[in-house]
Amino acid sequence: MLQDLSFGRLYNEYKDVAPQDGDVVICVQESSVLLRRNPDDSLELPRYKEVCRWLEEEKWSSWNEDKFHYVFRLQDCNYFLWMGAAGACADPGYHYENTRQLRQLQSKDICFAAMTAWHLYVWYRNNQFCGRCATPTVHDKAERMLRCPQCGNMIFPRISPAVIIAVTDGDRLLLSKYAGRAYTRYALLAGYTEIGETLEQTVQREVMEEVGLRVKNIRYYKSQPWGVDGNVLMGFYCDLDGDDTVHLDQNELAMAQWFPRNDLPAKDDGISLTREMIRIFEEGKEPK
Ligand SMILES: [Zn+2]
Repeated sequence: MLQDLSFGRLYNEYKDVAPQDGDVVICVQESSVLLRRNPDDSLELPRYKEVCRWLEEEKWSSWNEDKFHYVFRLQDCNYFLWMGAAGACADPGYHYENTRQLRQLQSKDICFAAMTAWHLYVWYRNNQFCGRCATPTVHDKAERMLRCPQCGNMIFPRISPAVIIAVTDGDRLLLSKYAGRAYTRYALLAGYTEIGETLEQTVQREVMEEVGLRVKNIRYYKSQPWGVDGNVLMGFYCDLDGDDTVHLDQNELAMAQWFPRNDLPAKDDGISLTREMIRIFEEGKEPK
């Protein structure tokens, strides 16, 4: 999956450090991230030294005096965020790539870094002011937290829990397609956890809401951080309980259909939890 990086994990412990010339800077413009495509089609993120040069040439606006903020460490390299809206970049080779397209990038480590940094960027952007008293927030020095200097409100990064659900019936798996979205490939059912419910209750409620089916024997499989939507996804398998007739919520889904284990129309892409769960079912290796 996307977060399974060949060189190990992303080090997300917070540090209060200043950027060095060779450090990577994630620059965001609206919903896009700045990337360079090399002649061999590989991709790179800009370095601090380059961004400083652009700042001299172009006017990039930052939210406050804290222009660069440390986000995490990946493959022996510190990553920073440009704290504001990135501007024009005249350097040939660089372009802004929409965060929705990042999963299609060849380089999994760049995709994961950019999606995770985007998650933090959105949180910083949306919390420049205290939601309780409207005073400008400041960065805490010891941990990744925004603090209100007026009322003491502490704001931590928001991560939304959501479930991915593989509904099975013996050797059949239920696949669906979303309604009204750019993503038109087969998917598993999914939904956000509501306040006051367990993850297992989310599974039961979402399956009933989206396809009108009862399920039992709910088994946890794996989780996946999915920064582009600010989520942590948790994958579950479950068994059909009773009638197999699908009653589609047409606001959410364009279709939902049972497919046999040996004829599933979706392959693992090495990126998403959904696709891995479909492959695991195909191989008969799902938790029983
Ligand atoms: Zn406040």
